[in-house]
Amino acid sequence: AEPILQVEGLKKYFPIKTGVFSRVSSYVRAVDDINLDIYPGEVFALVGESGCGKSTTGHTIMRMTNPTAGRILYEGKDIAAMKGKELHQLRKKVQLVFQDPYSSLNPRMTVGQSIGEALEAHGVTKRNERREKVEAVLEMCGLATYHYRRYPHEFSGGQRQRIVIARALVLEPRFVVADEPVSALDVSIQSQIINLLKELQSKMGLTYLFISHDLSVVKHMADRVGVMYLGSMVEVAPKTELYNNAQHPYTQALLSAVPEWDLSKEKKRIILKGDVPSPSNPPEGCRFHTRCPFKMDICVEERPELKEVSPGHKAACHLCSR
Ligand code: SF4
Ligand code: MG
Repeated sequence: AEPILQVEGLKKYFPIKTGVFSRVSSYVRAVDDINLDIYPGEVFALVGESGCGKSTTGHTIMRMTNPTAGRILYEGKDIAAMKGKELHQLRKKVQLVFQDPYSSLNPRMTVGQSIGEALEAHGVTKRNERREKVEAVLEMCGLATYHYRRYPHEFSGGQRQRIVIARALVLEPRFVVADEPVSALDVSIQSQIINLLKELQSKMGLTYLFISHDLSVVKHMADRVGVMYLGSMVEVAPKTELYNNAQHPYTQALLSAVPEWDLSKEKKRIILKGDVPSPSNPPEGCRFHTRCPFKMDICVEERPELKEVSPGHKAACHLCSR
C-alpha cells in the first residue's frame, strides 16, 4: 500500500530573539531533518523524552505551524501547498486529540456545542442533524447521549478525554494525531482510554500518529515505533522488534527504564546520565554522544544516518552501521 502520510526532510526551527531590537540570536532546532512514512490503518507511535520534537512533528502535520524545510504529503499531496477547499478538506480528514482534557475544552460551552462546532464549520447546518451526529459519536466514545447539554466541569478527567476524542472523531477523519492522549490521566483510567482508541480505530478504519513519552503505553497501542532524540529520528521498527531487539543505545536506555521490561535475556540496563542538551545548540556528530555509554571517536565527528539494520528496522548509530 501507499503511505497515507509521508514526511520528507522535515525541519522546524523556532527563532530565539534577544535584546531590545529582538534580533534572532539563534534557533531552537525542534525537528531537524526527519523522514517518516505512515501506512493506512496502522498506529505509528512517536516516542522520546519531552522536548525531543515529537509534538512539533505532530503540529506540523496538522499544519498548525509551517515547516522550516521539508515536505509533508497527505495521500500524496503536499499539505503546505493546500489552500481553500483542499485545506478545508484536510482539516476534516486529519484531526488532533490534545494532551490535556482539562484545558482543551471550553468551560463555557456544553459538550454538544463543543462537538457540534466542527460540524457547523463543515457544513452541517441543521441543528437536528448536528445533534444526531453528536449523540452518535458520544455513544461510540462510551458516553451517555444526555451528556450533550452538560458542561466540562461536570465530568471526570477520563470522561473529558472521551469528549475530546468524540470531538476529534465527529467529522469522521481518516488520520488522527493523538498527542500524549493519556498522560494527564490516572494510570487506572489510561488503559480504558487506550482501549477506546483501539476500538475506534478498528470501527472507523483510522490511522494514528500516537505521540507519547511512555513506552509502557506505546506497547499497548503501536504497530510501529519511531524514537526521537533532540529533533532526530534515531530508530524506527515494528513494535515487537523494537521491544525485543532495540539497536540504538538511546532506545535501549528508554526501554530499560520501563518497569516491566524483560531483563531475563541478559540485556544490559542502561541508565542515562545527564540532561538532554539544549536543542538550540545540539552536539555535533551523533546528538546522543554526550550521554551514550558506547561513544567512540567517530560519534563526535559524524552524524550517523538512519540505516536499515534488518527489514523494516532502521537505526542511526555508528555501532549498527559497521
Ligand atoms: Fe552512541 Fe555513537 Fe551510537 Fe551515537 S553513534 S548512539 S554516540 S555509539
Ligand atoms: Mg509534547
